Amino acid sequence: MKTASYVLAGLLGLGGLIFLVGAVQGNTLTRIITGVVLIGAAILLSFLGRIKTPQPTVVQQIELPGDLHAEQLKCDACGATLDPESVSVKAGGIFVECPYCGTSYQIEEEPKW
Ligand SMILES: [Zn+2]
Repeated sequence: MKTASYVLAGLLGLGGLIFLVGAVQGNTLTRIITGVVLIGAAILLSFLGRIKTPQPTVVQQIELPGDLHAEQLKCDACGATLDPESVSVKAGGIFVECPYCGTSYQIEEEPKW
């Protein structure tokens, strides 16, 4: 995603340079404007690609009140008891990744703690 925007910015900048070089040779105002606009778009695009913050890692450990909660959590697929390390919070949802069968799913209901 980020690389693609940089490539696009590079192409736009290159196109702008070609237009500017053509403008120097042909001395055409519209070519100069087109070249400036293209380079401006390239700069803007690379700038946007830079400030566009990557998806923040919101993965965090749930603060479990003792071992009680972990013992209550069981894998939906294989029924194995899940340890706190296999539970994570992503984007507001509680995700479970079973270390035994590899199944990962989101807990829909509000956990009882
Ligand atoms: Zn499982």
